[in-house]
Formats: sequence, C-alpha cells, structure tokens
Amino acid sequence: MSDLRHWLDRFDAVRRHGPFDYDHHHHHDGGDHDLHVVVGCMIHGDEVGSLPAVVELIESLCREERRFSGQLTLFVGNPEAGLAGRRFLEADLNRVFVEEPPDNHEGRRARALMPILNAASIFLDLHQTILETDRPFYIFPWSVAGWQWARAIGAASTWVTRAPAQSFSPGTCCADEFVRLRGRPGLTLELSQKGFSHDAHQRAALALNRLLTLADRLGGGTETLPGAATHHPDLHFVETRWRQPFQPNTLMLRPGLANFTPVELGERISAEGSPLIRAPASGMLLFPKYGDYHPDGTAIEPRPGEIVRIVAPLAQHPTELWGE
Ligand SMILES: [Zn+2]
Repeated sequence: MSDLRHWLDRFDAVRRHGPFDYDHHHHHDGGDHDLHVVVGCMIHGDEVGSLPAVVELIESLCREERRFSGQLTLFVGNPEAGLAGRRFLEADLNRVFVEEPPDNHEGRRARALMPILNAASIFLDLHQTILETDRPFYIFPWSVAGWQWARAIGAASTWVTRAPAQSFSPGTCCADEFVRLRGRPGLTLELSQKGFSHDAHQRAALALNRLLTLADRLGGGTETLPGAATHHPDLHFVETRWRQPFQPNTLMLRPGLANFTPVELGERISAEGSPLIRAPASGMLLFPKYGDYHPDGTAIEPRPGEIVRIVAPLAQHPTELWGE
C-alpha cells in the first residue's frame, strides 16, 4: 500500500462530515466561538506532504487530546489526482475557483469546495513546490490582515507577496484568492518540496497548531490579531521581478536550479542547446521547472505556462508601499 493510500484511509477512518456536501472533509465544532478556520490540503494532487499532519490533527481532536473551541474544516482537495501521482487530472484545481468552473473533474471539485471556502473566517492552504526549496514560504498578495495572520502563525519567515490588486494569473482564481475576494484572509503556505517528508510533516503540524491556538485566543477574546503578530519577528518580503513564459516550447533550464537559487543580472539560466535566457535582474529563482521533452527537444504537453521567475526583496516595507 502506498503512503498516500495509507494516509487517505486514515483520513477516511477518522473524518466526521460537517454541513458540507463534500466527501473528503472533516468538520469540528468546538462550540465556544464562531471563528471558522478552514485548511486546504492537496489542492494540487501530488503535493501530499501536509496530509499526515492533517490526519494526526483530526485524530487528536477526535480523541480529545487536543481541544479547539471554534469551527474547523479541513479538506483534501484532489486525492484522485494524488493517487494518480499527478498535479491534476483535467485542469489545475487551483485556477478554477471562478464563477463558471469548467465541466470536468477539477471544475466540479471547485464547485464542491466553494461552500466550505465561503464559510471560512480564515483559510490556510497548504502547498508544496515542485523542486527543492531551502525554506518554507508564504505566497499571496499583501493585506494587513494577511500579514498579521502569517506573522502570528510564524510558519515561514519569507513571504512572496505582491500588490493587493494583482491576481495570481488573470482570468483564473485560486482557492486563497476566492476567500480574499469575500473579504477574509486567505493564506497559501509552501511547505517544502512535494512529497512526504519529515520537514513537510513537521512544518504543517507547526502551522496547524499555531493557527488553532491563535484562533482560540482571538475567538475567546484573550488576544488581538495585531497583538499576536508582534509576538513573532516580522517576515522577509520578496516580490516577483520577472517571469519567463515557457515560450518557445524548446526552452530548457540549466541543471541544478531550485527555489531561492541566487542569480546575478546577466547570468545564463538556460541549458546548453536551449534558446538562451539570461537573468534580467539579480535575485533568487522561484518555481523553476524541468518539463519532459520529446527527442526533438520540444516540451511534452501540457507544459506549464511559466518556466521560472525571479524574486527579490521589496525595497520598502509593504505598509509603506501599499498601506495599512
Ligand atoms: Zn500547489
């Protein structure tokens, strides 16, 4: 039995459904306050690393080893794609939280998840990167509430952020963005390179534990969000300076690149024999991708829209750039 099958079976064995018509969710009602924490796991099917921490949290809540006094909903977004070892089956689930989702597996899944996201007071979406990363990081646009939650949870010290109005990719909608459009904080946390690992397990468990502890303090009125944020050091803010579309389809990155690999202006980041890409800015690489290629050197479709980006520290604190 695969690790994933094992953890999904444990999830199914322990989960208790709440008021949502979706099979792969667990709902907990602590009964004492109204803050509704929603946690997403495996919205990308092969980003499985947070599942053990999610399952163990549910188990400890059910055995009453851990208390949580508010509402909590945890969902597994795309186990079908996960079991197929894929990011998605027909469409990227984290792009189709749109008004009219497509009529395919992920479109129907987005529709099923929307009522859960609609009910969230705070949403934390747990992801993993395709390639290695030397650190966990948050990635979502700037908002003061998002900043305070991210800092108070303290699950990462780097935040890849952007001006509030910029969508992740125009014409699409991510799960965290769907929540933000409803005026609630939606945070995405990239834990580690995709797959089961000690780091992913531990980082997800830490994030969930801190999130619930904080939500109980806020819900119980013993703490304020701005106050809780100051208990942790501020985040390091980086922004995207450049994106390279996966264009033409013969583009290939040089070997050995990972998330946060430093690059200098003008440095070659393409492979030998690929159309030349030189870094147009100094900074750190983010989301580099090595696709699969045909013998003629063209990428096997569907290839990602973007092959790599460069991020660099923000020149000023976001409160100065984009306000409180
Ligand atoms: Zn993801």
